Amino acid sequence: MEEPEPTDVVVIGMGPGGEYAAGALAEAGLHVTGVEARLVGGECPYFGCVPSKMMIRAANLLAETRRVPGLAGTSAVTPDWSTVARRIRDEATDDWNDKAAADRFAAKGGHLIRGHGRITGPGQVTVSTEAGTRVLAASKGIVIDSGTEPAIPPIHGLADTPYWTNRDIIQAEQVPESLIVLGGGAIGAELAQVFARFGSSVTVVEALPRLVPLEEPEASELIERVFAREGIEACTNAPAERVSYNGTHFTVHLGLSALVAERLLVATGRRSDLAALGVAAVGLDEKARAIPTDGWMRAADGVWALGDVTGHGAFTHMSMYQADIVVRDILGAGGEPADYRAVPRVTFTDPEIGSVGQTEEEARAAGLRVRTGLTQVPYSARGWIHKAGNDGLIKVIEDCDRSVLVGATSVGPYGGEVLSALQVAVRAEVPLTTLRNMPYAYPTFYRAIEDALLKLGSS
Ligand SMILES: Cc1cc2nc3c(=O)[nH]c(=O)nc-3n(C[C@H](O)[C@H](O)[C@H](O)COP(=O)(O)OP(=O)(O)OC[C@H]3O[C@@H](n4cnc5c(N)ncnc54)[C@H](O)[C@@H]3O)c2cc1C
Repeated sequence: MEEPEPTDVVVIGMGPGGEYAAGALAEAGLHVTGVEARLVGGECPYFGCVPSKMMIRAANLLAETRRVPGLAGTSAVTPDWSTVARRIRDEATDDWNDKAAADRFAAKGGHLIRGHGRITGPGQVTVSTEAGTRVLAASKGIVIDSGTEPAIPPIHGLADTPYWTNRDIIQAEQVPESLIVLGGGAIGAELAQVFARFGSSVTVVEALPRLVPLEEPEASELIERVFAREGIEACTNAPAERVSYNGTHFTVHLGLSALVAERLLVATGRRSDLAALGVAAVGLDEKARAIPTDGWMRAADGVWALGDVTGHGAFTHMSMYQADIVVRDILGAGGEPADYRAVPRVTFTDPEIGSVGQTEEEARAAGLRVRTGLTQVPYSARGWIHKAGNDGLIKVIEDCDRSVLVGATSVGPYGGEVLSALQVAVRAEVPLTTLRNMPYAYPTFYRAIEDALLKLGSS
């Protein structure tokens, strides 16, 4: 048995929040050991938010250019995927690479161990590295930021095929002539539109009755309409039953019908492997989907968890938000504990779907007396001016008993940016009378919020 190496804090997993927490604790003078099995920075900068948004930016630019009357349908706009792929691979990784992130951590005084960490007792983490096993003894605690991986559904035959996950499609150097996307959530919808705009014939397969099923039904309906207009086929209510691959093409069987495509992207959610993390050693349920935490992100005595693994939404901003709470708690710096009433989420399709707080269904299920207001962006002044590409809507959810918004959705050009005003309204519980009695700049997209508020109907 190796001699335990003393440290103050072990951070298992250097995703966005883990990297932040480890760096901040080290800067505060603690001896911090970061343990990372893959790349410092986690999923977001290499296989998630950053490269996917670079692809989306390129795809949107193409779509926007095609909207210019006279250019539409001509060869003036030639999609060049390889340039985008190269740019993502070279430029992005120049600025945001594993070595630079590791150097940044070291400059803050942190100690990085490359390997797989496993909790083997209270305050104890055993790391399997290429050079052998190291045992760490943390005097102050363990912070878990182990994130999530693509969840592969148990569809008959799927495991034997060379399917893509987000990690593969992000590195694709060529656009397949056809692509089936399994899963119509945020990641599936975003990547479906990117590849369709670069010339792939794309079909999205979703087991639930609508695309982006966690969002308001009006948002799903709108995005399905836009997808149909762009030639993206959406098969909803269509659980895949069997998958096969013949060496060049995938076949996805959906009950009586079957779809065939050159590539298959599996985007059916994310999973954590808590057993591999050894959480049972500190009394946590290793079969759970997520690690439950209190408001200070404490999961057990001397154990904190943050990020995707806590189950409060797989978002980089959530990981960073929770990391700040962990840092303050470990340093005894006080402040506010976690508050999940106004968690923002954005699906970066075109139009973007931004939402915050509760959906209408969630608010009603929570027993609130609810009124909703809905307005269409194309009928707003800015929407009318914008013309092509002006699809969008704003929906607000009011808790009538308190006269405040508890949720809102803004779909449209810059829908994620328009969301900011709605997030403040929900988070700060701004009274409706205040929201209704202030000028909204003309002619902005966010001005449509005023119209949605005016349209609040009876419960
Ligand atoms: C295609 C795609 C697009 C996305 N777009 C967005 C977006 O636009 N906006 C947004 O907010 N979010 C987005 N996300 C989600 C976002 O990437 C994650 O929520 C974010 O990375 C936060 O994750 P995390 O901190 O929980 O850890 P992760 O980023 O998952 O990182 C966890 C790290 O822990 C390491 N690890 C795990 N177990 C161990 C172990 N036992 N020992 C050592 N190391 C370990 C892993 O190697 C990994 O590096 C996207 C995700 C994907 C896949």
